[in-house]
Amino acid sequence: MLCMPIVPPSSTRCGDHVSRSDLVNISDLNQYLYCPRRLYYLMFYQTQGVNVFLADGRALHRRQSRRGGWYREVYLRAEALHMHGRIDVVERVGGVVVPVERKHGSRYYENDLVQLAAYAMLLEDYLGERVPFGYLYLYGTDTRSFIEITERLREKVRETVEAIRAMRADEVPGFSENPNKCRKCSTVTYCMPYEARVLEEG
Ligand code: SF4
Repeated sequence: MLCMPIVPPSSTRCGDHVSRSDLVNISDLNQYLYCPRRLYYLMFYQTQGVNVFLADGRALHRRQSRRGGWYREVYLRAEALHMHGRIDVVERVGGVVVPVERKHGSRYYENDLVQLAAYAMLLEDYLGERVPFGYLYLYGTDTRSFIEITERLREKVRETVEAIRAMRADEVPGFSENPNKCRKCSTVTYCMPYEARVLEEG
């Protein structure tokens, strides 16, 4: 029987910067890869704007978490990897323990793959054994996809963790080049990309 601990999370954000001893929350990797500026506002403004896209995703998570018999909401931390996080679902598949990450859309993106890889690495650190794959479940299509945890994804995890740990309150990342991201972004009221771009870029 798979037995996982539930460990209370610790705060990783205090003061005006992320110190190098702090652990990065794995969900922040996804935020950073969506837009570094978005994570900046979430980290340093201590706010979590809720827009219709985010609210919808949270509602789906809550409903799904009451179904099924897997291990859900498993919290792990790995000092050596500088990461901690809460894995949506941990499941044993053919003798291998793997992470399952649930997303509310109908497709997944590169940042979702990186987030899943980070959870796999966290599991590896805890179990002391290789986690070669995981799954992304999509509420929008009610399907889940097999995802190989490649070395490219692992390297992207390590790069992103270091980039987040280097973020500072006095260094605001640039705007996203993709207006569709801004339209769906929950921190748009803090970022004000259209107004701020005029002011910052003259
Ligand atoms: S509104 Fe756009 S530029 Fe600003 S944080 Fe969100 S995605 Fe990034």
